[in-house]
Amino acid sequence: MVQKLIRELNEQNATLVAVSKTQPIEALQIIYNAGHRIFGENRVQELVHKYEVLPKDIQWHFIGHLQSKKVKQIAPFINLIHSIDSLKLLQEVNKQALKNDRIIDCLLQFKIAIEDTKYGMHLTDAEQFFSSPDFLSLKNIRIVGIMGMASFVSDELQVREEFKQLKQIFDQLKNTYFSDIDAFKELSMGMSGDYKIALEEGSTMVRIGSLLFGRRYYG
Ligand SMILES: *Cc1c(COP(=O)(O)O)cnc(C)c1O
Repeated sequence: MVQKLIRELNEQNATLVAVSKTQPIEALQIIYNAGHRIFGENRVQELVHKYEVLPKDIQWHFIGHLQSKKVKQIAPFINLIHSIDSLKLLQEVNKQALKNDRIIDCLLQFKIAIEDTKYGMHLTDAEQFFSSPDFLSLKNIRIVGIMGMASFVSDELQVREEFKQLKQIFDQLKNTYFSDIDAFKELSMGMSGDYKIALEEGSTMVRIGSLLFGRRYYG
């Protein structure tokens, strides 16, 4: 399964994040043994545990809502945080990255879904953000793109519309603030149920859990 999916994504120049939240170590080990190295988790404690017991060449992505007070636990090793939704959180990531003498890559999470349970910023928040001196002073984070989650609905048109909206936000930010910054290139969108639509709408990074691992037991 994983090899077929990786091949499909390679053809589209998209990165696979294997979303391993709630899965036991052995399940990650199987995907690791198949050659995959990028895993996504959404709970700090669980992530730290998995980081400690699994091989150190894994690139760990944090994909869930992140509380500022927990950033320090993942700052020593995290590769990409998908879920930056405030300047306050980004400042904390910067502070902890500095302490670890690292630069941490981040994506800004945008709210595109109609459901109001999903976290994220709006374009106007981001525009304020990038114009603020507080943002410009952050030297230990690097914004490499944006992330969003579509509504969990069966209406394909709705989902596609939301992905189009996220792509527009990406283009707008790229053109306005990052036109000469090559590192700003990731559009993290698409999950097990909607990744094909996401790829058609320009996704560069899909976050896939249940399709790879089977059903989750909690979370
Ligand atoms: C759980 C989760 C996924 C993966 O969901 P699947 O439907 O299992 O592929 C992707 N992104 C985020 C932010 C998640 O929390």
